[in-house]
Amino acid sequence: KNVIVAKDLYLEYKKDTPIIKDSTFSIKSGSFVFITGPSGSGKSTLLKSFYGELKPKQGILQIGGVSLNDISTSKLAFLRKYLGIIFQDYKLIEEWTVKKNVMLPLLIAGYSKNVCEAQTARLLRHVHLTGKENYYPPELSGGEQQRVAMARALAHNPVIILADEPTGNLDEYSSRVIWGLLESANEQLGTTVVVVTHSIPTSLKVPFKHFYIEDGKVYEIS
Ligand code: ADP
Ligand code: ADP
Repeated sequence: KNVIVAKDLYLEYKKDTPIIKDSTFSIKSGSFVFITGPSGSGKSTLLKSFYGELKPKQGILQIGGVSLNDISTSKLAFLRKYLGIIFQDYKLIEEWTVKKNVMLPLLIAGYSKNVCEAQTARLLRHVHLTGKENYYPPELSGGEQQRVAMARALAHNPVIILADEPTGNLDEYSSRVIWGLLESANEQLGTTVVVVTHSIPTSLKVPFKHFYIEDGKVYEIS
């Protein structure tokens, strides 16, 4: 079963300036996918289209059977509940504690306070941050901040994790932790993982697919 389907996908920011064009591919449920390509080739742009930040100008793009071409704001909000998104620069809220960063989206999603507390504690344990609940992001190392972002992304049990250079700013140890968390989500929970990266880690244990972007076209190369 495919979770992401693109047919003749065409993405642009400015009229008649395609970033992605003539691209047809699909991503299977439960797969681990890397998207690579030269700097400026459109990797982040493609990922943006997957979370509905940039709508296709032509072609078809579907996530979980839902078309992103003409998706309404309310339907997009609904779809995002199934996505966990991670960025190179973490995008944590610096004025909020670690705990609040992870827990608030859960509270907003309507879970009871008890469930949110328990889920947040479990996740922070899972990313090895127990004891740092009341720290603010600027008080943490980059690797720790990215682990908070991971916990936040995993909080609502996403069906798909979309990660843009998740280890781009991290040291080797923290990178290994993040790759391990992405692998365990994929292996243990069957989460589809899509990662934009400039280099595929050599230590990965799970099987993966490799998509490459060149001259605006997305190729599945393995
Ligand atoms: P990559 O992630 O592969 O480095 P990007 O997807 O970030 O590449 O960028 C691809 C191209 O799209 C670049 O030429 C970039 O300048 C352009 N681009 C990215 N974001 C915008 C934007 N918001 N408006 C206009 N052009 C953009
Ligand atoms: P262990 O305790 O053997 O180190 P894990 O750290 O993999 O095992 O799992 C600890 C807890 O986290 C378990 O309750 C497990 O169900 C849960 N868990 C494992 N992987 C994930 C994940 N990717 N997202 C959320 N919870 C997870």
